[in-house]
Formats: sequence, structure tokens, C-alpha cells
Amino acid sequence: MRLFDTLSREMRELRPMDGTSFRFYCCGPTVYGPAHIGNFRTFVLQDVFRRVLETSGVRTLHVRNITDVDDKTIRDSQAAGLPLKEFTDGWKGKFHADCEALNCLAPHVEPGAVEHIPQQIAMIAELVEKGHAYAAADGSVYFRIDSFPEYGRLSHLDTRELALGKTQEARANSDEYEKDSVADFVLWKARRPEDGENFWQSPWGEGRPGWHLECSAMIREYLGADFDLHSGGVDLVFPHHENEIAQSRCSCGGHFAAHWFHITHLMVDGGKMSKSLGNLYTLADLAARGHTAMEVRYVLIGGHYRKPLNFTLDSLSAAREALAKLAKGARALAARAGEGHVLQAVDFGPFQSAWDALNDDLNTPGALGGLFTGLRDSSGLAGPEAAAALAAMQRVLRALGLTLPEEVGEVEIPEEVRAMAEERWAARAAKDWAKSDTLRDALAELGWTVKDGREGYELQPR
Ligand code: AMP
Ligand code: ZN
Repeated sequence: MRLFDTLSREMRELRPMDGTSFRFYCCGPTVYGPAHIGNFRTFVLQDVFRRVLETSGVRTLHVRNITDVDDKTIRDSQAAGLPLKEFTDGWKGKFHADCEALNCLAPHVEPGAVEHIPQQIAMIAELVEKGHAYAAADGSVYFRIDSFPEYGRLSHLDTRELALGKTQEARANSDEYEKDSVADFVLWKARRPEDGENFWQSPWGEGRPGWHLECSAMIREYLGADFDLHSGGVDLVFPHHENEIAQSRCSCGGHFAAHWFHITHLMVDGGKMSKSLGNLYTLADLAARGHTAMEVRYVLIGGHYRKPLNFTLDSLSAAREALAKLAKGARALAARAGEGHVLQAVDFGPFQSAWDALNDDLNTPGALGGLFTGLRDSSGLAGPEAAAALAAMQRVLRALGLTLPEEVGEVEIPEEVRAMAEERWAARAAKDWAKSDTLRDALAELGWTVKDGREGYELQPR
């Protein structure tokens, strides 16, 4: 599989560095509210990525963290009057339920930040010892970006931005900040009154780890100093991933991630979908409007991950139709396959272009298009050939994580077609075979096939 790498800005072939399993990390959700479908664009694309590797026979190790302590989780748990753990556990449960509804595979390891405080403290101590970090008067500890010449390479910060940060001797104490405030960033935050009970002991006094540090500590614990790929939404490139690289390279040595995979944002009305802008949709919001999680998944994979995708409610209705069409096509193929079952497709046959698209920079819209052309190209197949094509189609569907609706909703049959079919059924009952055949041909002209049963007939679009 070829995939664009944010760091080198090149398309690169992916192969597990240890020759056996592809080990990758995804920054997980901050559990302080429901994840919105923008977040899920990122998680669903990461899921397709993993499925494509696994469909190719590559074993994976997928690690994704849960941010269960940071500025936002503490603030909102207090507003809710709940202990931090109780508050974040509730949102974590909801996140898992949404992931399941969206058919996202559970990561193999899903570590939480609170459970890994000792590992984070140990990493800070190492950074201080090696001269990459320093304690400020209030007991907070900062990473000295000046001590890491490669700082800024991932996000391609220019020298002006870097110089600005360095000359200002600025420090960022909050977890999130913008690119124009390149600054020494916080590794350990000294306890403040508003933190309530949420603090831990450390060599620098009471406090809690900064957000960027948790990923570095989890990665070290579960993937080591070198691993195959790191991923998140594009907003994480700076400062989060830049900071992760600095922390990890300076403490563990090694190269950190060999490849960087970033997913562009889901937009609404031309703006980023985000909680702070109040323009977000959750799965629950969309379910209340009658849309299934599978329709949402279809919409999310309907755009290429390197391009912004504008979300509209209409796109969900289009997704419903597309899924119904695919289901219908699959059923027709199954009917023509008859008894000739193929459990595992050897190659992708008419669905080769769909599979190729996925392997070419995870082109999910190309793969969806390929499903439809694959169906069209297999329309003449029957018996074992149809069975093989069906198995190939199912393999692509599994790679995309799509499950098709069991039954197509009522197929819209135009009035004149219905009337003609009724007339033909009556002619048949009257044993007027000539009329019946003429009407069958007329229906075929209009694109409909009639199948006669003992009790009635079935109309199928061709
Ligand atoms: P958070 O819970 O805010 O830490 O975000 C979880 C993941 O969702 C991160 O990888 C973010 O980069 C990603 N994300 C946030 N907003 C969007 C969006 N509008 N479109 C796509 N991904 C997003
Ligand atoms: Zn992270």
C-alpha cells in the first residue's frame, strides 16, 4: 500500500519495519463530551487504513489512547459535579458504543492517561536530566524547544516562526495553542486551585502531566522508540505531534514514527466542525433524524482523506440510496451465483479497480466508485464466476468496513411499469401467452425484468 507521508511530503510504500506486524498509533479522543462526526472522520479513516492492511494479509498492532485528564476533562467534570474518573468513564463508554455502531475495529491496546502517570513522570525526569526540560518557579516543567534543533520539521514551521518563539522566550501552559505561538511547552503542570482533587505527586511537587506527554509515554510503553506509523486529524500536526516528536526523540532516542498519516477535517458550511464552534453533529443527532451509523460511515469515506469534506444532511440521503443499490447488486450477484459458493476470493476480478484505489493513498471515494463499476462489469456473470465476483466484492466491502442493508427498502416502481406488469400477469392467468410475452419485452425495454412465481411476480430493475 502507498500512502502520503506528512513529514517527507512523499508517497511511500508501507511495510512493517519488524517484518511481521505493522505497528501504529492513533491519538484517541478526549472524553469530555460526545465525539462528533468530524472526530469520526479521522477514526473511520484510520479504521479503513487498518482494514486494508489486514485484508492484504498484514498483521497489525493498533494502539489508540484515551485522553482522560487534561484542561477540558477537569473543567467539565467539575461543572458536572462528578469525580474525574466517573465523568470520563461515562463518555468513554459512549465513544465505544459509537465506534461499534460505525463498525470501527477496537484497537488492540487502548491505554488511558491517568493509568500511566508514573511512566509520564519518568519521561519528564529523563528530559530534565538530559537538559531538554526545566522546572519553572511555580513547579511546572517545560520542554526547551531550543534544545531540539529538529523542532518544527513535521509542521514545516519556517525559521521566522521559530525565531519568534525563541526570542520571545514564550511558554505555553495550556494544552492547545496556535502556530503563531511557537514556545516552550508544558510537560508537567503545577497544581492550581481549579484542579480540585486532580493532582499527583512528582519530584517537582503536586500537579499533573501536560496533554502532549501522554502520547509519548504510551508509545514508549506499547510501541517502543521506533514504530511504523502515527496518525491523527490534521489539527494535531502542530503543536501536538511536533511536541510528541520532541519529547520522544529526546528521551528515548530512536526515530519515533517512520510515517505520518493525517486526516483533513470534516467541514460544515465551509467551516471546521468543532465543539467550540458549536456546529457539530453527533451520531445521536443524526439517528434522531432517521439516519443510520452506516450511512454516516459511507459519507465519511466518500471523500479523499487529504481533501476537506463538506458535510450536508443531503449527503446522508444519497448514502442511503447508494448502500441500497450496492445491496441490491450484491443480491442479484448472489442469485446468479446460485449454489456456487466461494468463501474467499483469490483475486479481485471485476472489483480490482476498487481494491487498487484503496492501495493507492487510501482512495476511498475511488473504491466506492469501483464497487459500482465492479457490479456493472459482473452483470453478465453466472455460476462460479458470479460467486467469485461476489466474494471479491465482499472483500472490498470488509476493507471499507461497510455492511449492506439486509433488505432494500421498497424499490420505487413507476406507475406505468406496475400497470404493465399487472396486465401481463392477467394475460398469463388467461393463458394469453403471446400478449404476456409482448408485455415482458416491453417491460425489458423499460429496464425491468419480471420473475414469475407460483403466487405472483417480482419486478427487478436491470
Ligand atoms: P479530540 O477528541 O478533540 O482530541 O479529537 C479526536 C480526533 O479527531 C483527533 O485526531 C482530531 O484531530 C480529530 N478531529 C477533530 N475535529 C475534526 C474534524 N472536524 N474533522 C476530522 N477530524 C477531526
Ligand atoms: Zn497524541
